[in-house]
Amino acid sequence: MIIKSLTVKNFRNIAYAEFSFDKRINIFTGSNAQGKTNICEAVSLCFGKSFRNPKAAELIPFNSNNEEISLELTFSFDSLPDKDNLIIYTQKGSNFKLTFNGLEMKSAEELYGALRYVIFIPEDLYIVKGNPEKRRDYIDFVSNMINRVHNSKIYEYNKALRQKNNLLYNLSGYDRDYSSDMLESWNDTLAKLGVNVMCGRLKYFSTLSAYAADFYGRINKSDEKLTMRYESSVMEDISYTAEDWELMYETYRNKLRETFEKELKMKYTVVGAHRDDISFFIDNIPSKDFASQGQIRSIAVSLKLAEARMIYEKSGDVPIIILDDVLSELDRDRRAFITNHIDNFQTFITSCNISDIKELASGKVWRVEKGSFSEIKV
Ligand code: ATP
Ligand code: MG
Repeated sequence: MIIKSLTVKNFRNIAYAEFSFDKRINIFTGSNAQGKTNICEAVSLCFGKSFRNPKAAELIPFNSNNEEISLELTFSFDSLPDKDNLIIYTQKGSNFKLTFNGLEMKSAEELYGALRYVIFIPEDLYIVKGNPEKRRDYIDFVSNMINRVHNSKIYEYNKALRQKNNLLYNLSGYDRDYSSDMLESWNDTLAKLGVNVMCGRLKYFSTLSAYAADFYGRINKSDEKLTMRYESSVMEDISYTAEDWELMYETYRNKLRETFEKELKMKYTVVGAHRDDISFFIDNIPSKDFASQGQIRSIAVSLKLAEARMIYEKSGDVPIIILDDVLSELDRDRRAFITNHIDNFQTFITSCNISDIKELASGKVWRVEKGSFSEIKV
């Protein structure tokens, strides 16, 4: 997919801007708070979903006289490079409308499913260094992106988990025997649903890890090696594959039996898919505790590029990549890789540092100042 042009009117701090984009690399550079992330957000909105999850009212320029927000984006699919498609996003007050080639979309999600973008935002560093919930959310996001039924598996699991935890919470010593049958039954349900969630994750985990390792190796020129491991709270042996459903179910079920007494004491379910995690290692050293800022950033970017490759393999169309504030903390070689060698993806990069464009071999660059954009020749 290639975005060819974008016109922005009355969007956040941008009164008017128009762009004709490069097929490969597009860089927005400027000081803090000038409009770099805003322009990336405009692109994401046209693709059906802002990565900032804003309320509609937040997009309207401050001190606006109720002018309409209007974003017009043209793009082509890789299979039909000469056919331009037009997306128009308009918003008056909090009512918005999104059209694709003149056809109104019933919901923005309709487009988001079909047109994929992959984005790195600084918060993504928490996938590596944050708490396990971030990593579970991330692997669930990737799994659902490739297989749309994954979210319903999570939903069912969480619902059953809540009900079992409610039972545990309200249990007193008096009705323990009576309730143990009910807990047994919940455990059986949870083991089945939990294994479904784990299988949904594991199905794509090895591909994600292999691709991320490949990108990591290319971003940094030394021979550092990135590996990833799915850490299950239920099974120590993580060499199983998604095909081992029965075996996983038995192990899960036994583990819930083993932790029964502990659960009664704690009043919640102490093991299961909701407690699993992912570990990253660079040359076998755990990254969460030991990786440098640049290494953490390189891992997060590698994951995003791996995601993009998976989308490409699934859909046959190369997704666009938005890298918001990705270059800071990276050394010259790593910056040079990102600005020049990211396979065939069309990439949009924001940077506060004008010297970053020194690494750029070809592409387009805009200087951003108070919501105005001027193209700089490279
Ligand atoms: P940084 O390098 O710090 O990330 P940035 O160039 O990415 O900066 P943006 O996030 O694009 O900055 O925001 C630019 C400015 O737009 C900010 O000062 C922000 O307050 C302003 N802004 C956000 N929403 C609106 C709005 N609805 N109306 C007017 N200005 C807005
Ligand atoms: Mg920004």
